Amino acid sequence: MASWEARVKPLERYVPMQNRFNRFSYKERYGLRLQRLTLDGGFTCPNRDGTPGLGGCTFCDNAAFHPAYTQGKSILAQIEAGIDFHRKRGRKTDGYLAYFQAYSNTYAPLSTLKNSYEEALSHPHIKGLVIGTRPDCVDAEKLAYLASLQAGGAIVEVEYGIESVFDKTLLRVHRGHDFACTCNAVRETAKLGLPVCGHVILGLPGETREMLLEEARILNSLPLDSLKFHQLQIIKGTPMEKEFAGKPEDFLRMGPDAYIDLLADILERLRPDIAIERIASSVPPAFTDSPWGLMKHDELLLRLERRLIERDTCQGQRME
Ligand code: SF4
Repeated sequence: MASWEARVKPLERYVPMQNRFNRFSYKERYGLRLQRLTLDGGFTCPNRDGTPGLGGCTFCDNAAFHPAYTQGKSILAQIEAGIDFHRKRGRKTDGYLAYFQAYSNTYAPLSTLKNSYEEALSHPHIKGLVIGTRPDCVDAEKLAYLASLQAGGAIVEVEYGIESVFDKTLLRVHRGHDFACTCNAVRETAKLGLPVCGHVILGLPGETREMLLEEARILNSLPLDSLKFHQLQIIKGTPMEKEFAGKPEDFLRMGPDAYIDLLADILERLRPDIAIERIASSVPPAFTDSPWGLMKHDELLLRLERRLIERDTCQGQRME
């Protein structure tokens, strides 16, 4: 029999085999091709101002994730600049979602949140909001407001930084909340019918491969609609850079091949209805010395699909 590589089509002719894992698609969810516009709403983070802690999570440097077009502009001006950015790259879309990504985008009084979100929704090409936040930055009033926007016809999704399901890890990375807080926020949000995405980092210090497989089992118990997995990137100048330099043996360092293998193992244990939004991230080269280089997300997706085909397995195959 031909090797699996010979049996898989090259990237340029490749048709994604979405039955191997549940790949997130706005077209499938809403019947529209939607593009997210990353915005900076000017919010801050409680883990930096002393509320639960100072200094932030040890892996975090938000500057590594800010597109240049967001800087120093109003929400509407960022949206215009973002649309221009995507149009120039020829990206076809039926509309845009305002993605409040920087810092914790529910960490402000409700009146401030309303001003920002409603400014975004006033743009004629904006179909809805994606709100990235910490699980300790929501309450019943804020969630009810988001649900009311959804009831009014806007698409509204909430994305929580879960990062790890293990309190030991959350403490070590100075996260400032525990996993019980995450569980509560995810459940309360889902109860209102708002789609919930979780953001998880693979390879945080002290976590083993076995723990990450157990993590998949624990995530299955939450009413999550989708997940974003990211490999741990050690960003220059962060406390984690120092920690890694002092104790590299505490980190599961993986090249792309080992990472794809781990993801395949995790997906096998994950509920098949949880859609996978991302499997990795990359920050500009100036922020990290990662040996991964600038690998395109589509290339990694292709490698993952090939790996699942080679193993003749799929998402949920080994779910307990
Ligand atoms: S990762 Fe999020 S919660 Fe942690 S310091 Fe950065 S902005 Fe704050």
